Amino acid sequence: MLNTLLQLGYLLAACMFILGIRKLSKVRSARQGNQFAAAAMLLAVVITLVDLGNIDYRWILGGLAVGTAVGVFAAVRVQMTGMPELVAMFNGFGGAASALVALSIFFRTMGTQTGATVDVAAAMGGSHIAVAGVLSLVVGSITFTGSLIAFLKLNGSVRGNHFVFAGRNAVNGLLLLGTLAAGAAVVFVPLAPDVTIMVFSAALVVALIVGITGTSPIGGADMPVVISLLNSLSGVAASMAGFAVDNHLLIIAGSLVGASGLILTQIMCKAMNRTLGAVLFKSFGGSADSGRDGYENVKEASAEEVAMMMDDISTLVVVPGYGLAVAQAQHTTRELANLLEAKGISVRYAIHPVAGRMPGHMNVLLAEADVPYEQLVEMDNINGDFKTTDMVMVLGANDVVNPAALDEPDSPIYGMPILNVHEARQVVVVKRSLSPGFAGIANRLFDNDNTIMVFGDAKKVLQDLVSEVKNA
Ligand code: NDP
Repeated sequence: MLNTLLQLGYLLAACMFILGIRKLSKVRSARQGNQFAAAAMLLAVVITLVDLGNIDYRWILGGLAVGTAVGVFAAVRVQMTGMPELVAMFNGFGGAASALVALSIFFRTMGTQTGATVDVAAAMGGSHIAVAGVLSLVVGSITFTGSLIAFLKLNGSVRGNHFVFAGRNAVNGLLLLGTLAAGAAVVFVPLAPDVTIMVFSAALVVALIVGITGTSPIGGADMPVVISLLNSLSGVAASMAGFAVDNHLLIIAGSLVGASGLILTQIMCKAMNRTLGAVLFKSFGGSADSGRDGYENVKEASAEEVAMMMDDISTLVVVPGYGLAVAQAQHTTRELANLLEAKGISVRYAIHPVAGRMPGHMNVLLAEADVPYEQLVEMDNINGDFKTTDMVMVLGANDVVNPAALDEPDSPIYGMPILNVHEARQVVVVKRSLSPGFAGIANRLFDNDNTIMVFGDAKKVLQDLVSEVKNA
């Protein structure tokens, strides 16, 4: 009877995970989706503890207290702009947790061995369990250190691309093969206990190194893809851990994360026109190309002049970017939009899939200011409309409106789909200077005849615009 209830509980939690992910696909229901998934996780933990039966709750409660404290502290303290780092860190913790599960099963098994050699596969209850354990160790460890590097790169502690040299892909390939070979030896070759432990430890250390050397050369505009791939890998590691400890729910939850992370990776690659192979094996982005150097036709205007231009427009498209999030100017943007709409101007927002620093960044930012969802238009749906748009206001965006992606084959972002704002009648770019964006490259949009620049912090400029429009 108890077993039937437990299985039903597992099934319910699995359904709630799936429903949660489904709800996450729409901005309107995303918050609820998150709550569903969190409740499913709580249910999963409780059922697993009951299922395990005879356990020492002191360790569980200790772990729960530490984990909750770290999670709550990080989530409450994090700024909107720091969200990608937090996601990278959570991916890393997921990978580390799976690797720790593998470590604990391995050492528990080794503790029961008394013979001259150890048959790890047999001792663990079958080679499929041992293989799953080793994969959980390897994939989890790679995810852990890879996410750590992604975290440090995103928060600026590690700058530029490292471990960049001609043969690095071969070296990384060999290291990966090495860790897998060591793992295979542990499972399939009966060795003396201390040798088994040494080979297992070598697999662990080399996997940790692969995470570092695999992620370090990747930089610039490719980081979002890496983060979603690491997210997927953390799911794969978790589902492998699920096979190793025979927990169906962990297999399901891990597979969901693995599959959705992979789909997101694919979407991100498409949005940046990069293949996954190119992201992982070709170092890209981050070249410094800043300042006024190279710009010849930059025209500057004040908020007052822009407000006057707004007297003559009937359509405005706002392009939000990373700088809008930095300036926390979403509420002021909404305030300006309200004023302009009251004057009969149609206001819409063009959303590029990789604007900001994480997938959906701009949607979340604008939702915070209660911008109506129907005014947020995806890139593919709005690109045809720029030709007939009176004014585009680019707020702290740069790479996602850089025409080099269309017409400069040598540019690192060549081929990445962009918002074709240069086709609009008038383009107003609001940013603090002519500094480049995340990809580190100049933007010829700033030189176009139909572009004017308003230099300043986005919030300050928008506040000035609001008062100019009010006083008009
Ligand atoms: P960019 O990073 O290209 O440009 C942002 C611009 O904002 C900068 O040029 C900066 O110029 C300006 N800015 C910064 N602070 C302020 C401020 N307070 N007020 C006004 N402007 C400010 O941003 P985009 O959103 O256009 O493009 C995103 C880039 O990030 C892409 O290259 C993408 O690939 C990458 N990326 C995306 C991720 C995602 O998942 N969305 C994750 C990681 C990277 P200035 O200093 O002159 O003010």
